[in-house]
Amino acid sequence: MKPAKEKFLGIPAAVVTNREAAEIILGMLQENHTHFVASVNPEICVAAQSNQALKKILLSADLGTPDGVGIVLSSRLRGGKIRERVTGIDLMLDLMPMLVAGGYSIYLYGAAEGVAEEAAENLRQRFPGLKIAGTHHGYVKPEEEREVARKIAASGADLLFVGTGSPRQEMFAAKYGAETGAKVLMVVGGSFDVISGRLQRAPLLFQKMGLEWLYRFCQQPRRLKRLLVLPYFLLLSLKEGRIK
Ligand code: UDP
Repeated sequence: MKPAKEKFLGIPAAVVTNREAAEIILGMLQENHTHFVASVNPEICVAAQSNQALKKILLSADLGTPDGVGIVLSSRLRGGKIRERVTGIDLMLDLMPMLVAGGYSIYLYGAAEGVAEEAAENLRQRFPGLKIAGTHHGYVKPEEEREVARKIAASGADLLFVGTGSPRQEMFAAKYGAETGAKVLMVVGGSFDVISGRLQRAPLLFQKMGLEWLYRFCQQPRRLKRLLVLPYFLLLSLKEGRIK
């Protein structure tokens, strides 16, 4: 299935639900080359305006998921069809039963020392039979990244979740994606912090009301600068006009 795309500041996001995105990824796992699944959120769209390398990576992604209430809002206001946020963590968790059923293995790369391992342990308990090929923390120097890619390749992982923050995670996927040998690289931001239990996710009510950003801000006030990007994103995206 090739989903329709909508553009936000020139960056394409697919018109997909969580379920549809998971099915597309499952299809990618059956193909014999590396795919990149990007997360298209307001911050990254704004960042890509002044970072050409990042823009190029996002334009060449095999799938860009509509991540964040700002994307949904912009789509609604411009007559688009995106109605559901597809966040890295939701998609990652939705994929798990499918990965168990298909016998696919995963690798978790990112977050502080020990967090990916804790997240892996948690996933093993929640999804019995899940194959975890390995984990690696995300605090590596640029010159050490190739070594990480080699370790991932040696693990034989089918699906690599990269949670090293943006734009580091996108750059890694573009530079070393093929070297990892994984069929799919998917960026997941701070998801390992939540899955490991170190960080609390917003209550469902906040998520349903589109207020997860507010909860995250209260938890991590340093996110303020990132939040302030939202109105700017909306303004720029409204200027792009209606989505055909
Ligand atoms: N991180 C990392 N390496 C770094 C910097 C950050 O692995 O050099 C991790 C960080 O520990 C966190 C994630 O990247 O787990 C980024 O989280 P953030 O909240 O920025 O991402 P979001 O979920 O908002 O995309």
